[in-house]
Order: sequence, then C-alpha cells, then structure tokens
Amino acid sequence: MGKLNGKNSITSKQFNRGLVLKLIVTGACHTRIEISKQTGLAKMTVSKIIQEFMDSGIVSECEEEPTEVCGRNPIILRLSEKAPKVIGLLIFRDRIEAVLCDLSMRIIQKESIPFQDLTEQQIMNYSYEVIDRILAKEKNIAGIGAAVIGPVDITNGVLLNPTRFYGIHDVHIKEYLQNRYDYPIFLDHDNNSAALAEKLFGIGKHVEDFIFLGISNGIGAGIISSGEVYHNHKGLAPEIGHMSIDCNGILCSCGNRGCLEMYASSHVMLEKMKKASKKDLSYEEFMHMSGSKRIDNILEQMLQDISVVINNCVNMLQPEMIVLGHDCIEWQDSLVARLEDIVNEKKLANDNQRILVRKAYFGKNAQLIGAAANVVDQAFKGDLKFLQS
Ligand SMILES: [Zn+2]
Repeated sequence: MGKLNGKNSITSKQFNRGLVLKLIVTGACHTRIEISKQTGLAKMTVSKIIQEFMDSGIVSECEEEPTEVCGRNPIILRLSEKAPKVIGLLIFRDRIEAVLCDLSMRIIQKESIPFQDLTEQQIMNYSYEVIDRILAKEKNIAGIGAAVIGPVDITNGVLLNPTRFYGIHDVHIKEYLQNRYDYPIFLDHDNNSAALAEKLFGIGKHVEDFIFLGISNGIGAGIISSGEVYHNHKGLAPEIGHMSIDCNGILCSCGNRGCLEMYASSHVMLEKMKKASKKDLSYEEFMHMSGSKRIDNILEQMLQDISVVINNCVNMLQPEMIVLGHDCIEWQDSLVARLEDIVNEKKLANDNQRILVRKAYFGKNAQLIGAAANVVDQAFKGDLKFLQS
C-alpha cells in the first residue's frame, strides 16, 4: 500500500477515522507509530482516534511477544471481538446467500438457499430469510451489503435485465432492503464486489490496477483502476461476457454476435466437453481430468477465446493482474499458467512487466465476501454511523 495522506482538520475527522480503521483492519499497520508514519497524521491525533475506538469497542490492544532487540514490547492494535459485524447478501442465478463477517472479512456464519426457478417475490423472500437467520443470532450490525448479477443499476440499486434469469427484471432490491431493515444498505454488481474484496483483503491487496474475471453460466468482470473499483456515472458495471470474439459468430440473446458467453461460459463448456468425451461428468470433474486429448483441445480453445477478450481489456486498461473467480477456481494450475502465457504473448505494451493471472484469494466466496466488503469499504471512507464520535 502506498502512503495514504491523512488530513489534519476538524472537517476531515471522519475521513481520518475511516483511514485509521482501514490500516488496522487490513493488517497494513499494527501500532500507533506505524499509523502515524503511514498517514502523516500527528501522533496525538492517532492516539486520540485509537482511544475513541477502544472506548467504543472497535479496537483492542495486546502486547506482542518479547523480542531480544527492543526492551519494551510494542503494543499491537487489533480489531476487537466487540466491534460491529457486517452482513453480505449475494444474488446469483442459482442461489441466494448471506454471510456474517467481522470487519476484516472473517466469516462467522453463512446461509444459502439454492433454487432452479424463481419469481421476483421469491428473490426478496429468500433474501429476507437468509438475512433474518443471521440477525436472529447477531444484532450488532454496521450495515448490509448486497452483490447482485448484472446488468444492474448500482446508483439506484436495481437489478435490470439479466440473461437467463427466469424472465425477472427491474427489481428494486436496495429499496426493498431499506424498507425492511434499519441498517445502512449498499449494493453493487457481484464482480465489482468481488474485485473490491480482493483489493482490500485478497490477492490484489498490493496491486493498483487489475481485472477480476468471473466465469460461470454468465461471464462478468470488475475493474480496479488506480486502487479503486471502476464505477461510471450511470452506475452500470462492465459486461465483459458480451464483448464479441467474432462479429460473424453465434447470435447472443443480447442481440450481438460472438459474445464470449456463447463460447466460454460454464454451461457451454460443459456441453462441449460432454459431447466430445461422451461422458456425463460435472464441470469440476472435467477440469480435473487428465490424459484426454479431446478435452485438452477444447480447453485450449476456451483459453484462446477468453484471451481475445482479456487482451482487448489489457490493451485498453493496462492492468497488472487478472484475477480469476467463480468456476475458474476449479481450473488446474497449468490452465491458469497457460492463460498467463497467452495473455503476455499477445499484449502490445512491452514494459517488461509480466501481467499476472491468479485465482481469487477468496476462491468461490469472492462475490459473497465482496457483498460484505461493500459495507466495510464505506466504513473505511468514514461514512458509517458506528465510526462517528
Ligand atoms: Zn451478448
């Protein structure tokens, strides 16, 4: 993490509190001195904030193990057990999940409702059910963050018109949640949320520019640009799965031809592999299969198809890393390494910096943890009530 500039004025108090919390919770700083150095805030200011955090049960301190070098053991700051928790709600094509996390994204409780069919009313009923199960056990909640499949209007918290989503469209999810719960509600696209979790706590912690690519029955992306989740003015998220790899290709339900989803999404890949092998295996089983030339050829073609879209993004955004999530977590390491090779062979800018391709730190939970991270991110910006003195 680069040096973060604190602000020494009364109006910036909330900003500073959010910043200090972020440094402690993400593990960037462990002592008052480190925080002061990292933020440029006066030691007095840092001590005052920490004292207030300790008084309100957000942070606690403990003595580190004795070392031979220094006489006095440094006092280490930690997230307190009593600190408020956050709830994440995830709306996917085949399940609705909720998670209870502490502010450092440690999972305390997880609830899930799978389905094969869905109505608008059921989306909300299932969402209420998983959240209520968590609230039955924990009431000290800083906020509820939602992560939903796209396309989504992030500004207004509306699920718009996802493909293959039981004909459901225009669900005002944020409004429904605000009417039912007396907590701050935040909503973002599922892959934006996953990218945020990976940036704050995961594989992208020290990376300023990366693309989170989630491949399942849909293909989506979240972009981290200069350390922040990329959000445009309209609140629409990047829909990478509908970037075309062939203008004369297969007709997609979006009206475009050759969309990546028509070639590399999980259900399409599964059909291709079943047909070629004449075996009725799962996506996961096929990914762990070895010694089949036919399957290897299909997977190589998948990587080539995906790399067309990745390289279009690479040439436009110049990221340092591609983070793979969703069903890519099932990929063998050799497949990930091969994709990294292809991406680097094809990129234009030759700055001797290899673009890394890595699996998400939070694995298949990246979007769910991301939902909770949407709340924590607001706390880090000093915008949540529990941080106000
Ligand atoms: Zn399309």
